[in-house]
Amino acid sequence: MQTLGIDLGGTYVRAAVVEADGTILGSSKQALTERTPEAVVAAIALAKRAAEAEAPGARVERCGVGAAGQLEGDSGVILVAPNLGWRNVPFGALLAEKLGQSVRVVNDLSAAAWGEHEAGAAQGAPDVLTVFVGTGVGSAIIANGALVQGARGVAGELGHVKVVPNGRLCGCGEKGCLEAYTGGHHLIELMKEALAAGKAPLLAKAVGEGTPNPAQLEAAAEAGDVDARAIYDQALRFLALCLGNQVTMLNPGRLILGGGVLAHAPHLRQRLEGALLAVASVASRTGLEVRTAALGDDSGLIGAALLA
Ligand SMILES: [Zn+2]
Repeated sequence: MQTLGIDLGGTYVRAAVVEADGTILGSSKQALTERTPEAVVAAIALAKRAAEAEAPGARVERCGVGAAGQLEGDSGVILVAPNLGWRNVPFGALLAEKLGQSVRVVNDLSAAAWGEHEAGAAQGAPDVLTVFVGTGVGSAIIANGALVQGARGVAGELGHVKVVPNGRLCGCGEKGCLEAYTGGHHLIELMKEALAAGKAPLLAKAVGEGTPNPAQLEAAAEAGDVDARAIYDQALRFLALCLGNQVTMLNPGRLILGGGVLAHAPHLRQRLEGALLAVASVASRTGLEVRTAALGDDSGLIGAALLA
């Protein structure tokens, strides 16, 4: 039997028919032109049909969704999904009714971490910390081979750990979160603020009339742009502190790093590894394997399907 995995982002939805071993048999992607729950459910139904058409003979009876947002345990209720503009949406029930199938909704990072655990860089490791630094910062904890969800289902939100009391406003509505200093969206905002203030001359030259990106930030910092360096070093320092402390707390056997910011700033990943190991206690980092996520964009699809 196969299961359907759904990756629900803010601008698109992807669907895949997935084998029990994590192999993708068929997949499809639908742009989200509207973001009401009804429109998203309809887009998922379309994506499902297209994915199933690529996998003739597959028998799909269950569906797993990885959604960017905070969920209420296994109830299928999405408490907050900032990039969809949702609050308290009974999404799992709506989708199950539309598809006529049982549906499990999990956090997108939980899905990605589970995909890496079952078919990617975390295979064979019972205790895993997974951290993705992309547009936002997400993480998930696997302990004794099981996802740690917490009493309300929102455990592992490393992106919303506070690093500056009453600091920058984060997309979650709270202030001073790690994500507000290190997520791709906020790095771009920090660069724009510096450029608007007439700072970061080397970065300004590289960016021109375009939108700054993390690769340009790293290049400008390395070329000696003091203002770019301040933003870059701050992000590196906060990430290293939070990740290193999590290693001390959880003593994972494997740490999986992924996400667009780490992929596109070529030296940040290596610097972060060195810096976080320097923060973690000697006992907790001894024997720790740090690996790069192996499944790319498919980790969430595969993990959501296998969690269904
Ligand atoms: Zn936050």
